[in-house]
Amino acid sequence: MKKTITSLFATLAMSLAIVPTAATSATLSTTGYTQTKYPIVLVHGWMGWDNIAGVDHFYRVASELRANGAKVYTVAISQNNSTEYRGEQLLTQVKQILAISGASKVNLIGHSHGSPTSRYVAGVRPDLVASVTSVGGVNKGAIVPDILSGAVPTDSITFKALTTAVNGIGKAIAVLSGHPELQQNSAATMVSLSSAGAKAFNVKFPQGVPTTSCGEGAYSATTNGNKVNYYSWSGAKAVTNVLDISDPLFAVTTLVYKGAKNDGLVGACDSRLGRVIRDDYAMNHLDEVNQFVGLVNLFETNPVTIFRQHANRLKTAGL
Ligand code: CA
Repeated sequence: MKKTITSLFATLAMSLAIVPTAATSATLSTTGYTQTKYPIVLVHGWMGWDNIAGVDHFYRVASELRANGAKVYTVAISQNNSTEYRGEQLLTQVKQILAISGASKVNLIGHSHGSPTSRYVAGVRPDLVASVTSVGGVNKGAIVPDILSGAVPTDSITFKALTTAVNGIGKAIAVLSGHPELQQNSAATMVSLSSAGAKAFNVKFPQGVPTTSCGEGAYSATTNGNKVNYYSWSGAKAVTNVLDISDPLFAVTTLVYKGAKNDGLVGACDSRLGRVIRDDYAMNHLDEVNQFVGLVNLFETNPVTIFRQHANRLKTAGL
């Protein structure tokens, strides 16, 4: 028994030792590795934020990309709202980023609801967007909103209580991140993230969306001479780190997919967009953005490394 406990402590100590080592080696690698032509904009999804007390939603991603040459911006958009509403908020901030940086275009990387939000901007202003990358993106809807919208009539007291509570959580995140002005409309979120809502959105903004149920999409789309490149990746493992308090939630939500590949909230096939880098990393929906605070699968490539590799991919593509 004593030997087992000693061994457990040794494993834990090694695990903890691995984290700073990996981060340090990432920072030290080649100068210019992530130096893309256009700035990278990280777009958060449902209940996301830009920065709360020094903790980025894309945890330690921006700093690691900047360390090797990228210009990186985060944005603050409504935690709860429709894709179109969030898209207009993002468009306003993209214009500000272009004005500040002097760049002519941006590379948008959207997590979860941040993916269709980014696709909206690329759809309405393709002249301002070099690429859209979806990370665990809700590109064809998700089952949990489908179940909720089917089970809870919108005129019921339960629906009102539910949306009020979710709006309250969104508002709290908005206030904590210093953006109390962000409007919360969780009823609109539920519609946008449902399969039917996503399907209607995809009719208006089909760029990069696979036309088969689990294929790749077009790698690029050109509108009025403006070419936008599309990429995606996602995880497909719900439970990855016993220390992360979010894992038990994903252990439950993953069940709605009845064995089909998913990251705990989004189906792997439904996340696909453009060129699919991979749709089966051993990561859950929060691991994809290195949350909570770096508690991810130690037996999978670190999410920050995947972002760095992607920045290099964009750089190599001249983006
Ligand atoms: Ca995690």
